[in-house]
Amino acid sequence: MQAEVAIRGAGPVGCVFALALHASGKSVVLQGKRPFPENSNQTPLRPIALSHASRLILERVGAWRELPATPIETIHVSRQGGFGRVSLGAADAGVPALGYVVDYAALMNCLFSRVEASGIRIGIEPEDALLVVHAEGTSNALQEKNYGQEALVALVTTSPAAARTAWERFTPEGPLALLPLGARYCTVWGMPPERARAFCDAPEAEFLDALSRAFGRRAGAFVAVFERSRVPLALRVRPSRVGVREAYIGNAAQTLHPVAGQGLNLGLRDAWDLARVLQDAEDPGDAQVLARFAGMRRLDAMASVRVTDFLAGAFLGANPFTGLMRGIGLTALDICLPARRFFARRMIFGASALP
Ligand SMILES: Cc1cc2nc3c(=O)[nH]c(=O)nc-3n(C[C@H](O)[C@H](O)[C@H](O)COP(=O)(O)OP(=O)(O)OC[C@H]3O[C@@H](n4cnc5c(N)ncnc54)[C@H](O)[C@@H]3O)c2cc1C
Repeated sequence: MQAEVAIRGAGPVGCVFALALHASGKSVVLQGKRPFPENSNQTPLRPIALSHASRLILERVGAWRELPATPIETIHVSRQGGFGRVSLGAADAGVPALGYVVDYAALMNCLFSRVEASGIRIGIEPEDALLVVHAEGTSNALQEKNYGQEALVALVTTSPAAARTAWERFTPEGPLALLPLGARYCTVWGMPPERARAFCDAPEAEFLDALSRAFGRRAGAFVAVFERSRVPLALRVRPSRVGVREAYIGNAAQTLHPVAGQGLNLGLRDAWDLARVLQDAEDPGDAQVLARFAGMRRLDAMASVRVTDFLAGAFLGANPFTGLMRGIGLTALDICLPARRFFARRMIFGASALP
């Protein structure tokens, strides 16, 4: 029997959307397969910082309790080679934790198991439906803004071991994030592709030495590195997130630089809002229903794209005047509580944090 809604792509956004829509009584088919075999130790490392709002969404679809997640209580932002720093605490945003770090593969396995247990039909071949929702992830067909950078992703141990602080350091070559995952840190380090290639293959001592020089010793001494890999960085935005009986959510609608850890958080808000719009719609593919969804997501998506794009480029280069302005900006944010609170809530809740 034809489902009302067919979802193409069983990534985190497709799975969350399927679970939310199924719970509202709509008939759904999810087209895709489990991305990683259960209990495999061959999965690629990708740390995901989930916001408090994403936690609430995952709780509502029943996929939070089993998920191994490390809470972030403080985020420390600084820049290499200049003054200016900002420290955001959970109390600034009025939430128990600013976010949670999870491993992409663990998140996927948890979500896919939840989909299987819920009885949602899982298909392999594309099927027609009143509405086709695209959640296939990044589309190479979209025009891209290439940052000329790759992210070097690695797991590192420090002495002392990682605690519940996430670190973001802007270096002239690119942003460097350290995200606590259990007792270790995941690094996501943006840099020119040739440097990323060299660091991926460098001997361990050389890599750790370069990391210490870029990051300093705030998080302790870097002791060992595991699982180095590289990911190209680009911005891809679909001009319209709806078409004739079609909607696009998650990375299929917009793929961001990971500098601000916003891609999946934004995608989960896409999924949640689309499920809310469709729950009472008689015809889920109706043009007016889809236009309402597109209107609802416009501000959040646009602001997230702009903030992320700004951060990806704002701290690059060694111009002394712009360096001074960046230092003043970070210092001002650090001493101004309402600005810190707004910034933290914006990153956590998206556009709904806007006054
Ligand atoms: C290094 C790095 C770090 C990141 N850190 C963060 C972070 O801290 N916080 C954050 O919020 N985001 C982060 N992101 C972004 C985040 O990973 C993505 O935004 C998120 O994975 C998007 O989810 P998605 O379900 O839309 O797409 P995907 O995760 O790409 O999943 C799409 C799925 O659809 C499948 N598929 C593709 N084509 C088809 C088809 N034709 N039919 C069926 N299935 C198909 C794919 O195989 C895949 O399984 C990071 C990204 C990178 C690269």
